[in-house]
Parts: sequence; structure tokens; C-alpha cells
Amino acid sequence: MTQPCGAILAIGDELAIGQSLDTNTRWIAEQLTARSLHIIEHTTLPDDQHAITDAILRLAQHADFIIITGGLGPTADDLTRQSLAEALSEPLVEDDRALAFLEDIERKRGRSLTPARRSQALRPASASIIDNPTGTAPGLRAVLTTTARVTHIFCLPGPPREMVPMFEGAVLPALPENPTHAIRTRILRCYGIPEADAAAALADLMRRDRNPLVGTTASNAIISIRIRYEGDPGAADSSLSETERQVRAAVGPYIFGAEDDTLPAVTLGALREAGDAMLVAESCTGGLTGAMLTEIPGSSDVFLGGWITYANEMKSAHLAVPAADLQSPDIGAVSAHTARNMARAALANAPDASRSFNRIHSVAITGIAGPSGGSDRKPVGTVFIAAATRDNNSGVLTDEVRHFLIAGDREDIRIRSATTAIGMTLHRFRNSSPETLLWQVAPPDRAEARA
Ligand code: ATP
Repeated sequence: MTQPCGAILAIGDELAIGQSLDTNTRWIAEQLTARSLHIIEHTTLPDDQHAITDAILRLAQHADFIIITGGLGPTADDLTRQSLAEALSEPLVEDDRALAFLEDIERKRGRSLTPARRSQALRPASASIIDNPTGTAPGLRAVLTTTARVTHIFCLPGPPREMVPMFEGAVLPALPENPTHAIRTRILRCYGIPEADAAAALADLMRRDRNPLVGTTASNAIISIRIRYEGDPGAADSSLSETERQVRAAVGPYIFGAEDDTLPAVTLGALREAGDAMLVAESCTGGLTGAMLTEIPGSSDVFLGGWITYANEMKSAHLAVPAADLQSPDIGAVSAHTARNMARAALANAPDASRSFNRIHSVAITGIAGPSGGSDRKPVGTVFIAAATRDNNSGVLTDEVRHFLIAGDREDIRIRSATTAIGMTLHRFRNSSPETLLWQVAPPDRAEARA
């Protein structure tokens, strides 16, 4: 049996030239996938009547339904209505109910309906109106019959706050059911492994002819492993779970969460549950690590704060890094030694109240974000990150320093350094620290002392 399939058409000059981001298509595609409906195409077009008509006719050859957003306003560049009429080979007629709706809105605003606004009451002769509960532009619903198939077409206004309730209220209930075919997805989030290594570890799981399919995407040190099942709904859960088990067996130590989990949120959550807290000491990231952590609501009960010691004098004055070390050509500000001193000083400087937590974790970052400041020995992207933990019950202090060569421009290096610092903290907390993390160039240097 063939599966019902649809297409999404986003209309607007601003989308076609890249001035605005087409978020409607993404949102609609997620809704359709959650309904196990196949999407054969996403199309974006400028405000060009013939191009829109051609696209409708072409997509109708292949899709059982087309969802169009944008171009339903009152201005001359809003052409969806005319394009749909042209594709249906029908005249535009005035819809009484839409007219009454528009007149009512204008009356409440103390104005009369202008000819431009009145044009929003037009619909192709066989089409019907979709009510717009949060705006003025009514939507349209029509059926286009070609030799290939019968295609249901839904036109919705462009603004997401109008489009979403109309899609949920009028489009979703009218879409075909797909009881014999399920599309279900799971996402696992990893930190610390290069994408190519993840792909090598996943090996046959990434074959394009298997079901569920497994794919990876990488973004600023985080690898997302996407598992997608298509087929008999009854087998969906077990099939997804079995593939998830295999993925975990391949890259388990690097997985920190699932679905919408983020590294900072998972890290803070894990620390909170254990009664722990954390501090940061930042140089080249200039507070970015603290910002990523404080972006998470409720972070204040786990994240105590930190130091931004950008200048050497600040490292000496506030984190007790000896000036001689900072000036020494063999050590310097960007070194394992300085990173370790910063992380330990952060713990030493923690307020007395921090003794009430089970453990305090600190993480220190020092590096060269560029574009200048690099040398042969320490090129741009050289970053040392030290993570230290004081166990308040035993008084034992452990730490580790890792040396990284982080790829990218200044912004990339800063974001990736901050992410790496948080990832290192989580791996240490979980006792799952892999020997080598993404961009790491030397084995970790670990130490233990009495606090
Ligand atoms: P209106 O009557 O509100 O003008 P419309 O259907 O004519 O509705 P457009 O004029 O095409 O909508 O777009 C209005 C605004 O809606 C755009 O400026 C943009 O901010 C937003 N918008 C349009 N299409 C999209 C889209 N695909 N994704 C996200 N936002 C969009």
C-alpha cells in the first residue's frame, strides 16, 4: 500500500533572499513526521504568481496534500490566493463569511474595509475558508484533481503565531491517517567524540538500507545521533529500543542525554542530584562558560559563580597564579600548569558556605582564541582545561588537565572551549572520562592531593 505523502511550500521574497528564516516549514515538517506522514519536498519561492502556480501544479502530481504558508495578506505582493485560483483554473469569488469576518474586525477598529483588505475575502470558487482566530488573513482549503491523484491544498498565513493555531485546528484534523505505517524518531546526544570516530564506531548501524536508520549531525562539539524508524507501528518501540541499545553499546561513554537535552542542563542536573556545586575560572572564554550554565533556569542552586581572569595580573591577583610562572617562557598563561593553578585556586577561594555541598567542582580554561597571539609552539586554538574536585567529606582533591587544539575561528574556539569545559566536568562527575576527548592532543595529566 502506498503511504500518504505531502509537500510544504513557503512563500515570500524575504524567505527566498535569505532575509528571514523559514521556521514554518521546519515546524510543519515536525508535526507531519510526528503523525507518521511522509514529506516528499520542501520548496521556498518568492512572491511570483507564475512560479507559485507552477509549483502547486508540479507538487500536485506527487503529493496527496500540500501545505502552503505566506502570501495571504492584503498587499500587491500577496499572491497565494491568485496562484491557487490559477492552478485550479477557477475564478476568485468573494466569500460571504470571510467578508463578514473582515468587516467585523475593521468595525471594532473603528474603520471601514478598504478594497485591499476586502481582497482577503476572495477565494477560488471551489475552495473554502479556514478561520484565523489570531489574525486577519483567512486561510484557504481546496482540492486539486489531476490525472495523477487528488491533492488537498491548505494555505495558511505566514506569521507563525497565526499559522500554528490554524494548522492545529483545521489542517491536522483534515490530514490523512496513517494507521499502518509509523515514522518514529529518537535522538541521543554525545559529547567528546569526533563525528568521524562516532561514525566508525557505529559502523553498520549507519547503513542506509537498515531500519531504523541511524545518522549523525555535529554542532560545536556535540554529536547528535538520530535514530528513525519507519514501518509497522506495532514494532516501532522494540525496534527503536534495540537500535538505541546497539548505539549505546558503540558510543555509550560519550552519550550525555537524549532528545532536547543540553550539556549544561544535564551537567547541572547531575550535580544537583548528587548535592554538588560548581565554579568556573575563565580566561580565553571570558565568562562564556558561566553564561552557558546560567542560561539554564534554576542554575543558581548548583552554579556558585567564578572568575574571569583575562589579564595575567588578574590571574595573579585573584587566582594566586605566580607572576613568575606567567612570565616564564617554559610555562606562561596558556599552559597546563596555569590551568591547574586556576582550577585549584577557584576551589580554595570558594566561600565557606560551599562546604555544605558534598563536592565542589571547578573548571579552568586558558587558551589562545586568535586570530593573533599564536606561535609555533602554541598555535591559535591551543587551550588547556583543568577540572578539579574537592570532596568535602574526605578532604581529597583530585584534578586533571587536558591539552586541546581546537578547530575554528575565534568564536568557534571560545564556544567549543566552554562546551569542552562543561563536558569535562560531566565526564569526571560520572567517572566516565574517556582518555581522549574531541580536539585533545595529549594524554590527560591527573593528580590527587589533600585539600
Ligand atoms: P499577513 O496578512 O500577516 O501579511 P501573509 O500570509 O501575507 O500574512 P506574509 O506577508 O507572507 O504573510 O508574511 C508575513 C510575516 O510572517 C513575514 O514577514 C515573516 O515575519 C512571517 N513569515 C512568513 N513566512 C514565514 C515562514 N515560512 N517562516 C517563518 N516566518 C514567516
